Amino acid sequence: MNIQEKITSLREELREHNYKYYVLDEPSISDYEFDMKLKELQKLEVEHPEFYDATSPSLRVGGMVTKNFETVAHEHRMYSLDNSYSKEDLEDWEKRIQRILGDVEVEFTCELKYDGASISLTYEDGRLVKAVTRGDGFQGDDVTNNIKTIKSVPLQLKGDYPPKFDIRGEIILTLEGFAKMNAERVEAGEDPYMNPRNTASGSLKLQDSSLVAQRPLECLLYSITGDNLGIASQFEVLDKARSWGFKVPTVAKLCKSTAEVMQFTDYWEVHRHDLPYETDGVVVKVNSIQQQEELGYTAKSPRWAMAYKFKAEQAITTLNKITYQVGRTGAITPVANLEPVLLAGTTVKRASLHNADQIAKLDVREGDTVFVEKGGEIIPKIVGVDFTKRDMDSNPTAYITHCPECGTELIRKEGEAQHFCPNDVGCPPQITGRIQHFISRKAMDIEGLGGETVELLFKEGLIENYADLYTLTKEQILPLERMAEKSAENLVNGVSASKAIPFERVLFALGIRYVGETVAKKLAKAFKDIDALMTASQEQLVIVDEIGDRIAESVVGFFSEPSNIEVVERLKSYGLQFSLSQEQLENQTDLLKGQTFVVSGVFETISRNDLKKMIEDNGGKVSSSISSKTSFLVAGDKMGPSKRTKAETLGVPIISEQDFLQKLEA
Ligand code: AMP
Ligand code: ZN
Repeated sequence: MNIQEKITSLREELREHNYKYYVLDEPSISDYEFDMKLKELQKLEVEHPEFYDATSPSLRVGGMVTKNFETVAHEHRMYSLDNSYSKEDLEDWEKRIQRILGDVEVEFTCELKYDGASISLTYEDGRLVKAVTRGDGFQGDDVTNNIKTIKSVPLQLKGDYPPKFDIRGEIILTLEGFAKMNAERVEAGEDPYMNPRNTASGSLKLQDSSLVAQRPLECLLYSITGDNLGIASQFEVLDKARSWGFKVPTVAKLCKSTAEVMQFTDYWEVHRHDLPYETDGVVVKVNSIQQQEELGYTAKSPRWAMAYKFKAEQAITTLNKITYQVGRTGAITPVANLEPVLLAGTTVKRASLHNADQIAKLDVREGDTVFVEKGGEIIPKIVGVDFTKRDMDSNPTAYITHCPECGTELIRKEGEAQHFCPNDVGCPPQITGRIQHFISRKAMDIEGLGGETVELLFKEGLIENYADLYTLTKEQILPLERMAEKSAENLVNGVSASKAIPFERVLFALGIRYVGETVAKKLAKAFKDIDALMTASQEQLVIVDEIGDRIAESVVGFFSEPSNIEVVERLKSYGLQFSLSQEQLENQTDLLKGQTFVVSGVFETISRNDLKKMIEDNGGKVSSSISSKTSFLVAGDKMGPSKRTKAETLGVPIISEQDFLQKLEA
């Protein structure tokens, strides 16, 4: 097999595995094997850029940055749907249809109404060429780079697809994916997202597609438009799309009457919470495409389709007590402890009250009869109070003023919704929370140590901060509950092994507020070692790419706390990595120091992202727009004409990819 054949066969293999994993949910190889194959492909593609293919599975990792999403017109308009809320509404709709079509038989396809962001995908010769948001229905934003990172969107189709068509669907986050994303955000000291729908929709407009690639987005398809498609019915549309490699939920039914349609809606009204994603109703469509054409459109929506909306699910119960949770960063979350009640198939005992403003807004009090709703959020929420049931002697809820765990007076910063316990050194859940973050998988990844053991070690007085982990001995741990010789040994070994974890992860592990994984990487690269970072001023921090005032303030604050410095010094003395490795440093020079580059277009031997990385690694700065301060415009193929004109007017030298690479050889 020659190189080109090898590349082609790896692409096909990975395409098939992507399909099995993300569309069929039936993986046939392990994640590890998949990663190895992907790495192999990426390596070959870098070595042989001449075999570039815009549909290669390696593009799924993203890396394209879109500063301004281009507005493009939809070739076929994207309509809204009319809503109905009852059996009567649906029957009225059926009568209207029959009046137009005359006395003929009408069948309906029922599908779930997926709750996310609509998207229109254009395929030509089986290849994805464009992905556009709904926008106002006539025109939307071109988000192709971002959509390409969604693994269930095929870049290359299979089977007997038409030469050109648009396919419409909904970009969603599964409830599980959403919950996982939020858990990671909370771990990084960031605020969790409110609901899957808005998060999915917001993801489409992220500028950096590698961030989109990290989100567990999915694309569920439901309709095809185009000329001469040779498809007779909506039900066939779903089948066909499935056979070309699209993810089309199998929860769809062909119904002979509105009575049958009602059976479908009744069933899913109850069972919708068994689904892995959110749905807010059912979409009923006239099945025959020919009848659809006859029915046509109103100004806003097709006459041949109707959304049936589910009722938001609510339960009524008593709020027994409001308690307050303290998170790793000291953030306080009020929780409603409820008289257990059945809601959407699960027993609910607790509901979120979000923050003090929310409590005040709803005027919710202990002892109240409350309405609980399960919307997008994983934790149910209180949406209102039945004031008719309130006791005469009830008093407004007084929000706590002091930390329930350590008694310290709470603070609330200007513009923030949450109260905080400022006692980060002495507040137990903050202490254990920080240590739990430190040992977590994406941070120090300490094997043999879990969250509960951390709590136990803290309770027994064996650790007070994460530096203490490194002086733990087997003899100290053995007497603890449920500790055996072997597990004690594993713990000590796991801690010791973590000394090899690279600097950027150690930095993330420290748990500095707003310093998540990505920010930690940027800081590590910019400052190279902890001493430089510890002494960095606010001004020095904000000149680093993507570091704003909020992060800079937090970093300066962290290192102005003597106890934090002491812990870091101790960790240093135990041999943890507090500077970039030799290898990381070797790839870095000062050759481009003081120079600012704008990169535009498509390059031959290197991806745009790698090019940017090379600039930064060699001390240069990457900027997105051309100004008089720009030193060079590195121009690739298909560069926008406006960039060229602007560079020319401002006298900014335009250089090629080869010119750029030569600079580094000097
Ligand atoms: P609305 O935004 O309420 O007018 O509802 C119309 C939107 O519902 C469409 O733009 C689609 O994005 C979305 N939708 C979700 N699931 C489906 C489906 N199965 N069929 C058609 N539209 C759907
Ligand atoms: Zn506290």
